[in-house]
Amino acid sequence: MKWGEAALILSGAIVGWYATRRARIDMGGAPKKGPSSDYLAGLNFLVNEQPDRAVEAFLRAVAIEPDTVETQFALGALFRRRGEVDRAIRVHQNLVERGDLAPAFREQAAYALAQDYLKAGLYDRAEKLLADLAKGGAYRLPALKDLVLIYELEREWARAIEMHEELARSGKPDQVIALAHYRCELADADRRARNFEGAKAQLKLARSGPRQFPRAALIRADVALDENDAALALTLLRRVPVESPQLASEVLPRLVRALKAQGREAALPEVLAEFAGDGTEVADAIAHAAILAGSTESPALLDVLRGYYARNPAIAEIVRALSGDRVPDDAAVRALAQALRRQSQSVARYRCSDCGFSAGAFFWQCPGCKSWDMLKPLGPGEQGGALAPPRQ
Ligand SMILES: [Zn+2]
Repeated sequence: MKWGEAALILSGAIVGWYATRRARIDMGGAPKKGPSSDYLAGLNFLVNEQPDRAVEAFLRAVAIEPDTVETQFALGALFRRRGEVDRAIRVHQNLVERGDLAPAFREQAAYALAQDYLKAGLYDRAEKLLADLAKGGAYRLPALKDLVLIYELEREWARAIEMHEELARSGKPDQVIALAHYRCELADADRRARNFEGAKAQLKLARSGPRQFPRAALIRADVALDENDAALALTLLRRVPVESPQLASEVLPRLVRALKAQGREAALPEVLAEFAGDGTEVADAIAHAAILAGSTESPALLDVLRGYYARNPAIAEIVRALSGDRVPDDAAVRALAQALRRQSQSVARYRCSDCGFSAGAFFWQCPGCKSWDMLKPLGPGEQGGALAPPRQ
């Protein structure tokens, strides 16, 4: 256990003890004597980062005074943090079921039990408790935030939107990016069900939030392609890599589909080179996406790749080793693209800039930390090895 965690539990335990004492006074009863020596010993062990001995001391305190609420809360929190979720559930369940508990403690116990269920992955049980707590009281806001997480995990986007609206009504600012992504998820589901008008309505709502929202343009392009309007899809796609170069690999498959619909598949490299324009960032993102997709045939695109190689220090070194000071010829450019593609298939291609989660595929929401829009493609110099788990 880290010092911060111990301090957190300790302050919670002290607040809990003080609140119990206050509640007893408020309820008209005389305050009972102070915390037991075992309880204080438990706190002491927590401060000294000895969670096992703290648990023993708290258990002794509970055995002597089974009614002491603060010890039960301290014990439950400690069990959960140690990963002993079953024991935490039993402690908090007992508190919830006690008939003599003041309403404030019953709420606290219900919220603690919901946290246990969340940690155990029992989302339906957590949802039930949190839905009650979200109706009002001291735990309304944290309960609403937890419900957002549950509905995101269960991909219940409409419910997640409702929770955000509740939060906004309680004075919490709108999470415009998350809301726009939920709308996009709903739009994509409508599109798959061929409800194109429903999809367009959701996309309109998605675009009403953030100033720029390229995901909405990508799904609108999908709808245009489904409705056989490849020209509109191309117009929409052209904007995306300029606004968000990191999404070039999302643009590429849609571009292929649009050109195929127009019977112009062979024009792909020229269109890509045209998309790349003069901006080096867009050109690099396009070159990277083209390498990963294996579309490196046309002379126009070979020039984009040459520029990309020259600007990337890791690749420039390889090029110098192979071609000296000469500009690499077409065969060398293609061979290098193929080698880079093969190499990228066995290593992480995206990394979350928030938590460091690495993935072989692209996600709008980081599977590690649940942030939106944080997965960024890794260039050849940045692909640091095997897929890495998220930071805990
Ligand atoms: Zn993350």
